[in-house]
Amino acid sequence: MKFLFVFLMLASTAFAHVNLTVTKANELATGVLETQLAHPWPFELLSIGHNMQSYQNYSGEPYWHDGLDIRSKPDQPIYAAAGGKVVNVENYVPGNPLYWEIAILDDQGFVWKYHHVAKASIPAEIQAAYAQGAKIAVGTYLGNVVRWPVTTHGEVYHHLHLLVVGKDKRYVNPFLLMMPLPDTVAPVINQIGIAKNHRPIQGQQVSGPHSIFVDASDLVLHRTFILPPHQISYRLDNGPEVIVWRFDTLPSGTNDKDFINDFYLEGTCGNYNCRKFFFNLNFTTRRPRATMNLAPGEHQIEVMVEDIVGNRSARPFRWRVL
Ligand SMILES: [Zn+2]
Repeated sequence: MKFLFVFLMLASTAFAHVNLTVTKANELATGVLETQLAHPWPFELLSIGHNMQSYQNYSGEPYWHDGLDIRSKPDQPIYAAAGGKVVNVENYVPGNPLYWEIAILDDQGFVWKYHHVAKASIPAEIQAAYAQGAKIAVGTYLGNVVRWPVTTHGEVYHHLHLLVVGKDKRYVNPFLLMMPLPDTVAPVINQIGIAKNHRPIQGQQVSGPHSIFVDASDLVLHRTFILPPHQISYRLDNGPEVIVWRFDTLPSGTNDKDFINDFYLEGTCGNYNCRKFFFNLNFTTRRPRATMNLAPGEHQIEVMVEDIVGNRSARPFRWRVL
């Protein structure tokens, strides 16, 4: 019980933080912003390959992507999106040249982690700044994106994996701190349906405990690399709008696995060969696998999905509870 109380306290702290960043996101969208919240992109990007909430499952143990995969041309130079103190230069998967990190702590307390920097390209000035705990300016050259050895969806996947960590150690959605991208395409709802035992089923009638799922996807500056939407919400039987989650932060605190198997239903995939997202509309952090508790008869739900810049789609679904 004490544990539950602590958890609720943490959850309410998290929501305070979310509200703060929502305000910032709205300011970004309307162009009324503080300059430090419209950070420049580290280079001219090709597209977004994964976002914070992307489902990752390469070896059977799913995890949240946590940051943005910013896709680049080969050997793309990287320029610091925020100035600050160089707090890490590290081969974080020791011996593997694909996994070098440069981390910078900015004056607002955010740590910006640049992953997949080519080691040989990291300038001596960055190494020296790290050794001395010195600051660098926004726009400082950090090195080049390492050549990624994998082709996926027909394109070589050179990318910078950018993570932003807040003062509370939680991952912050980097989109909220960056200049908005020219994305005018709304997310797509492919299907809405019934789930039993945490698995989508066919049909429009059901008895016993069940939940409702949505299969939805978004694209940012690309036609193939589908992403989970930024926000998922619904109205049940014409009731008030309920936000399942808005990915200003992850629902999982500082752990990049917590809740992922609750938020995503079975049948979801996310790897080099497969991207398909079945979202559990009954997800909450307090009852991650809650089910519908509805009277027998006809019911309807309207599902809404929204991207980071506010493009939005909606679709209804009707079913019968026996
Ligand atoms: Zn990544």
